[in-house]
Amino acid sequence: MSVRVGVIGTGSIGAEHVRRLAQQVSGAEVSAVFDVDRERAVAVGAPVGAAVHLAAHDVIDDPAVDAVLIASPGDLHAEQVLACVAAGKPVLCEKPLATTAESALKVVEAEAARGRPLVRVGFMRRHDFGYRQVKAVLDGGGIGEPLLMHCVHRNASVPPWFTSEMSLTDSVVHEIDAARWLLGAEIVAATVVAVRSSPLAGGARDPQIVLLETAAGVVVEVESFVNCQYGYDVRCEVVGSTGTVSLDTPSTGAVTRGGGRTQPLPDDWRSRFGQAYLDELQAWVDGRPGGATAWDGYAATAVAEACLRSLATGARSTVTLADAPTGSPQ
Ligand code: NAP
Repeated sequence: MSVRVGVIGTGSIGAEHVRRLAQQVSGAEVSAVFDVDRERAVAVGAPVGAAVHLAAHDVIDDPAVDAVLIASPGDLHAEQVLACVAAGKPVLCEKPLATTAESALKVVEAEAARGRPLVRVGFMRRHDFGYRQVKAVLDGGGIGEPLLMHCVHRNASVPPWFTSEMSLTDSVVHEIDAARWLLGAEIVAATVVAVRSSPLAGGARDPQIVLLETAAGVVVEVESFVNCQYGYDVRCEVVGSTGTVSLDTPSTGAVTRGGGRTQPLPDDWRSRFGQAYLDELQAWVDGRPGGATAWDGYAATAVAEACLRSLATGARSTVTLADAPTGSPQ
């Protein structure tokens, strides 16, 4: 029996998820889609035999939909996830779970009240082979006590509407989740450090440095540079008391000639994390544990909010998380 997935939002990543679910994920089919752009929904849904609905709730309520994938704009996620929880349907929500910590917490509470884990958040780095290797070393005590972490997150370029704030809420939020997951600790404070902006950044603050702190004093330094021009480059290194463990941008096809070496880089997140998205979907369809929970989505949004406060004020901003409700999967 296939898991029949309904997809809400068939734009950039939604269309890719539909294709993966229909063609690459075993035990899955896409039975329904909805997008406010009906032409786009038809173009994405019809080739895979999905019904094209007229509203998001029609997807959620469709008896031919066992589970829902949400890839609509982020400010719609909380409401759509809450509707899935109310319907008792498992939901994989693209990041962010919500655009405010307050609304993300409502999802956590609704899921806890329902009494079973239904919500997963699309922080796909948790499924990336390289990140999982780093996690295995850390969990095995391979570098002793983690002390600090360096992260680099660079995109070749972004559209003109991509703001300094989005660099934090859309890009750095991946490092926020990765740091929480790798270190097994909550972030308690965030500081955005002003950096000289690139003349190619179109007036946005780019690059930016973000300092995240855990309660134990581990400091995570994140460079977000979304107009770096040269390619997509995501790296990290955790420095521990007895060694370090790092993740580099994977590269094959290095050419060595004429006294030099060139190594191709991924163009963007699609090519860099293509396998991670696929593994994320397969794990979700299989019902395997792992992946980011609603709590993880809430905590990431709360830290992103602290980053926004720090960007606005220039000051260090603390993060105060609510107590997890009883029964909330973490
Ligand atoms: P996108 O290309 O703009 O796609 C979003 C689609 O949702 C658009 O077709 C949009 O239509 C449609 N939409 C608008 N209102 C809707 C509604 N009420 N119900 C259903 N669909 C609606 O954006 P995207 O890049 O795919 O991003 C979608 C989400 O995925 C975002 O939250 C983003 O942060 C996340 N994302 C995650 C990753 C990752 O690495 N995990 C990567 C990319 C994106 P209109 O264009 O007509 O408004």
